[in-house]
Amino acid sequence: MNSINTDTAAMNRIADILDKKRDMIKLSLSACVHCSICSESCFKFNSNKKDPTYTPAYKVINSIGRIYKKKGKLSDSEYDKIKILIWDKCVLCMRCYCPLGISIPSLIACARSVCREKGFYRTYDETADGPEI
Ligand code: SF4
Ligand code: SF4
Repeated sequence: MNSINTDTAAMNRIADILDKKRDMIKLSLSACVHCSICSESCFKFNSNKKDPTYTPAYKVINSIGRIYKKKGKLSDSEYDKIKILIWDKCVLCMRCYCPLGISIPSLIACARSVCREKGFYRTYDETADGPEI
């Protein structure tokens, strides 16, 4: 189980991350027209029966989008859900194509940085069939 970081220093670092990426996040969130074209190029979406929670735009809006809007002040259960979206449902392969130039991998990488600061990150399951990749 991850160690959840609630200290002020961590929240300050999260504020710094969001501040540095503010323009990209704001522009991307406002520019997305929810056309789903990016889904076609995401193998995770295509290999999971086109489950809408695997669409690149969904993963962005419900990870860094939520984090940004709430300035990182999300509950642990919200961070747990985000963790699944940005690690289990995205491998940062950079294959997703957006005709508007939105960089899904950059946004998801930013969400990962915030989650790590909060103590939420990919864990390895030693009790199952081996490490997750
Ligand atoms: S292709 Fe671009 S504009 Fe369309 S849903 Fe995906 S991220 Fe949004
Ligand atoms: S970077 Fe993530 S969202 Fe983009 S194609 Fe790869 S798995 Fe899908």
